[in-house]
Amino acid sequence: MRKRIVIVGAGPGGLVSGMLLAHRGYEVTLLEKAGTVGGRNAPLIAGDYRFDTGPTFLHQKFTLDEIFAEIGRKSDDHISFQKLDPMTTLTWDQVSLNTSSDPQKMAAHIEKAFPGEAANYQRFMADHADKLETIFPCLQKPYHKLSTLLAPHLLKAFPYVATNKSVMDVLGEYFDDERLKLAFTFQAKYLGMSPWNCPGLFSILSYIEYAYGIYHVEGGLSKMSEVMADIFQQEGGTLRLNSEVSSFEYKNDKVSHVVLADGEKLPCDDLVVNADYAHARSMIFGKEKVATETLAKKKFSCSTFMLYLGLDKIYENEPHHHIIFADDYGQNVADIQSQKTISKDMSVYVRNSSVNDKTVAPEGHSQLYLLIPTINNRHGDQWTDELRQKYRDQVLDRVIAKTGMKDLREHIVEERCITPTTWQESDIFMGATFNFAHTMDQMLYLRPRNKLQGFENIYLVGGGTHPGSGLPTIFESARISANLIDESYGTVRERVDFTTELLASTTTAA
Ligand SMILES: Cc1cc2nc3c(=O)[nH]c(=O)nc-3n(C[C@H](O)[C@H](O)[C@H](O)COP(=O)(O)OP(=O)(O)OC[C@H]3O[C@@H](n4cnc5c(N)ncnc54)[C@H](O)[C@@H]3O)c2cc1C
Repeated sequence: MRKRIVIVGAGPGGLVSGMLLAHRGYEVTLLEKAGTVGGRNAPLIAGDYRFDTGPTFLHQKFTLDEIFAEIGRKSDDHISFQKLDPMTTLTWDQVSLNTSSDPQKMAAHIEKAFPGEAANYQRFMADHADKLETIFPCLQKPYHKLSTLLAPHLLKAFPYVATNKSVMDVLGEYFDDERLKLAFTFQAKYLGMSPWNCPGLFSILSYIEYAYGIYHVEGGLSKMSEVMADIFQQEGGTLRLNSEVSSFEYKNDKVSHVVLADGEKLPCDDLVVNADYAHARSMIFGKEKVATETLAKKKFSCSTFMLYLGLDKIYENEPHHHIIFADDYGQNVADIQSQKTISKDMSVYVRNSSVNDKTVAPEGHSQLYLLIPTINNRHGDQWTDELRQKYRDQVLDRVIAKTGMKDLREHIVEERCITPTTWQESDIFMGATFNFAHTMDQMLYLRPRNKLQGFENIYLVGGGTHPGSGLPTIFESARISANLIDESYGTVRERVDFTTELLASTTTAA
């Protein structure tokens, strides 16, 4: 009889594990509480406009390509990608920098904005080709046993991993201009962390972007979720939307049944949990629940304040991705780290994808996505209606002041807002949108493990487990957990590997 696997949650982690496991012949049921798939990567529909709720770009596309190859497919046959150049425009008080994954263009952009620094960029790229090649294997393997900490790949990466340096310290070894350091450290925010606190090994994030580029997906990144759900079903999986899981039943250290909110019980041989881990652990683990207060002792990422604006015009001269740094970025980050102070001087990420993608708004219209990193709800909910409205106005003032969108207010015809409280209400613990912080004491063996400690048949996928938050890492978590399930039944699987060769060729070129 085929082994029955139940997956809780159809976010990116649940969808990728579903595709892999269904393809490998398991009887897989994917239960999603919402009426649509995708979780934080679901579409957000407002009137005639289609937004992405969360992710707005894909990096490390080679990981997605490997996942599709694992199921005998090509990602480009299913998803329409656009490699962006320029990738992102970064704006400080007086200076802007366009970033590019073309080394000549990037060096020229840097030299123009920050004279004398292009050679430093080249040194950063050459060193980081080696660093990534050394660290990458550590992000592809599970750490569910203590012995894994002695694995050769981890020992080799030890000098990069076991350092007290922050991402900002590492960048200090390359660049003189503080703003340029930020161009190579703001990616720590993808992990919901401050570059001054984020472990130095994560300087590979900006390298991955600048070496291999970032991609837009036609229709928005949430299209990937819909494609994955289709493929999952083509591979024989059963998708059940509007199916909220309320608890698990156990037989010794094994989950025997998954219980739905309406009382239905589904038997399972293995369970994959994609729901936000701290939320799930405190709410749906049945007799194995952990108290909210206990989980709150962990370190959590920041949250985000979001505005989604449907416009009756297109700002064709504004960039696709634009980051406007706070005037005092250090203070802005310190406010967020305090988990108490909502910065008035905020950093704003503006995504204007309609310049490259006409499918997400009616003809002649566009949509803007504004993301403002802010505090999580550790110290309670501050987001009254009054504050939300006031903050929204401050965000718009800043965008209008710092961009060419001077008449923005006159062109808003649809609007949605998400605050840290909205995130929390949609089952994200503390509203910490990027899960547990990625500090050294919460990584690898010390992060909730892919094969969850204490249980024989519970596996985790998504941003709350190893390797961590971000789409490619989440895809990897799904592959790691799927392989661990295989191994528990005696099948050891050869990974599809495009990465080793790719990284080695980049090292040689550098
Ligand atoms: C604003 C924002 C921007 C981001 N931008 C990027 C980006 O540009 N690029 C990038 O790589 N990453 C980005 N990320 C990070 C990350 O890629 C996404 O957050 C990602 O969607 C998280 O995926 P996940 O698999 O952890 O699960 P989630 O997306 O959290 O999905 C979990 C699913 O579980 C379901 N669920 C929960 N409880 C239950 C239950 N009891 N029963 C049934 N179902 C349940 C939920 O409804 C949800 O669908 C961003 C994140 C956010 C929030």
